[in-house]
Parts: sequence; C-alpha cells; structure tokens
Amino acid sequence: MSSIDFSELQSIIEINSWTKNKEGVDKNGEVFAYWLELLGYTLTRYPREEIGDHLHLTTPKKEGKKLLLLGHIDTVFPPETFEDFKEDDEWIYGPGVCDMKGGNYVALQALRNVYRKFGEIHNIDFLLVSDEETGSDDSKHLSAKLAKEYDYCMVFEAAGVHDEVVVGRKGVGTFFIDIEGIAAHAGNHYTKGADANLEASHKLQALVALTDLEKETTVNVGKLSGGIGANTISPKAHLTFELRYTNTQERDRVLKAIDEIVATSYVEGTTATLLGGIQRDVMQPSLDQADFVKKINTLCNIALPTEKRGGVSDANIISSQGVATLDGWGPYGDGDHTIHERASKKSFEKRIKLVTEIFEHFLEGKI
Ligand SMILES: [Zn+2]
Repeated sequence: MSSIDFSELQSIIEINSWTKNKEGVDKNGEVFAYWLELLGYTLTRYPREEIGDHLHLTTPKKEGKKLLLLGHIDTVFPPETFEDFKEDDEWIYGPGVCDMKGGNYVALQALRNVYRKFGEIHNIDFLLVSDEETGSDDSKHLSAKLAKEYDYCMVFEAAGVHDEVVVGRKGVGTFFIDIEGIAAHAGNHYTKGADANLEASHKLQALVALTDLEKETTVNVGKLSGGIGANTISPKAHLTFELRYTNTQERDRVLKAIDEIVATSYVEGTTATLLGGIQRDVMQPSLDQADFVKKINTLCNIALPTEKRGGVSDANIISSQGVATLDGWGPYGDGDHTIHERASKKSFEKRIKLVTEIFEHFLEGKI
C-alpha cells in the first residue's frame, strides 16, 4: 500500500485537458500554479488564444546554478473519451497519471518537501507548457528561449521500467513533398503526360534508402496519394514522411539528401516542392549531462539507471540549447496515450524521495 494521498492529483486528472480544450488546460494550469505560489513561486503567464496558456513559475535568484523543471499540462484525450480516476493497491489510473500530470505532481511534492525543510526555494523554476502532445509547435520557441537562463533541466515525463532517466531522445522531422506532373489520356496521349505517381515512387525509394539502421536513422514515408483514375496519367502526387535520428551529423546528411531528391526529376516534366522540417531536434547525451548524473549518484549514493528513447519530448528542445538535461523524472507507468494509462504508486514514492534529495543537494549548492 502507498502512503501517498492521491486525492489532489485526482482533482487535476479529472479536469479534462486535451490540448485543444483551452479552458480545461488553463484550469489545470491555474490549480498547479496556485500550489506553486504557496511555495513562494511567482507566475509569468504566456497567454495563447487557441491553446492553453504557457506558465513560467519562478523563484528568487541567488548566486549559483539555475535549475529548470519542465512539464506539460495537456493530454491526448478529448472530453468524454477517458476522464475517470481510479486506484487499487498498486496503481492509479487516469488520463495523465504518468503522461504527465503525475510527473508534474512528483516535482510539486518534492518542492513541498524542500520548502518544509528550508523555508524557502531559490534558483529552481518550473515551466508548464500546454501543447506538448501536438508537437510543442508553439511552446518550443518559448522553451528554447527560456532554456538559456538555466544550467540544468529536469523533465518529468514517465520513468523507465527500472526507474531509468532518459539521457537521449531521437530528433524528429516531418516533411511533405508535393509533386506536379502533366495530366494526359492514358490511351490517346500517353507520351504527352508526365507521371507524378511514377515520380513519387522514385522519390519514395530514394527517401527510404536514406535509412541507416546502424546509426539508428530512419526515414518513413508513412503516407502517399496521387492520381485521378486508371485512364489518366497522374498530374499530382503527395508524400508525407518522417525522419528520426540520433545525432546532428545524421540530421545534416539526410536533410541535404532530401533537398537533392526533391530537386531531381526522375520522370521528365515533373516538379516537386518540399514543406515541413525538423520538429524537435535530437537530445544527445553530453558531458555536462554525464556530470549531472555523476553528481546525483555521488550525493544520493545511488547508481541512477539511464536509457535512450526513440520518442521525442520537450527535453529535446531544452537539451539542444546546450542545457544539461535529464528526462524521465516522473513515475513509471504504461498504457500512455490509451485509455489504459496507469502509473505505479510505488514508483511515485521512490521518485518523490529521490527528487527531494536532489533538490536538497541543489539548494545546498552541491549540484
Ligand atoms: Zn504524451
């Protein structure tokens, strides 16, 4: 049995905060900001019209290192799809219990613990963004800008199965190619046409060939469309594809090759244009990050397990600004992005304890 009372967390889990539900996301943010204000935090609001406001909660600054805590308050669940909170002996269930209201709650509880101990908190700020689940298209600019003020960042996405923190995440880009051909009757004027579909097939093969599994670079053409019907040479085709990569050299190699593929007309008479780009840059393990892990291990007398993940998070944005970033400080859970999302109670306890210790050492100037 867990000694944590989850009723507070339940109260925000039950407020729907689907990314497109601005009202719900804002309500969640308000509750969370209020809890932090009780610990001496000052709120700076970044108002948004279509999505929830982003919230930057700051503490007084002193000499020394600055730490940013990062969380998102949106979820992937539209109203009435998954709204209930449940618990049993081992797990809590509900939208966002691990992704990532639960993670935000770990940070909050640890902050409360150090506030109780020291009577004040300084140099530890909290950024809550509202659009992570749709790709942070808006907040990524704010996150990147604010990141420059910090030495360290802890992101509270869910922990790994064995309580791992995340030291690397692939970068991801999404792209669209529009191909223009020339329509012609397939029977009467076959040679007058320029086949956009055929061009798309060449480009598709060339794009997929950029995949290098050894380097963990993948290019996936996940969607293609084109053409009018069997008796018309296709005048238009579209490719939608995604790039994932683990280092900036691979990013640059593939971006250059994509440009070449778009500029090449494999089928005479066709032209192509490229849209899209890198959505979230790679989170690459760094020396500063390794040093951060080492300090935690020494001071807390543990061997913090680490892992790399294929999926992206806002950690990608902060770490690509050169901030020593560790992700996965939330509780362990599974079933995220499904109605089976759950988080382990035991893992909550362990995470709150460890994060409290880290904050204590940080506030004492040891990290
Ligand atoms: Zn998510």
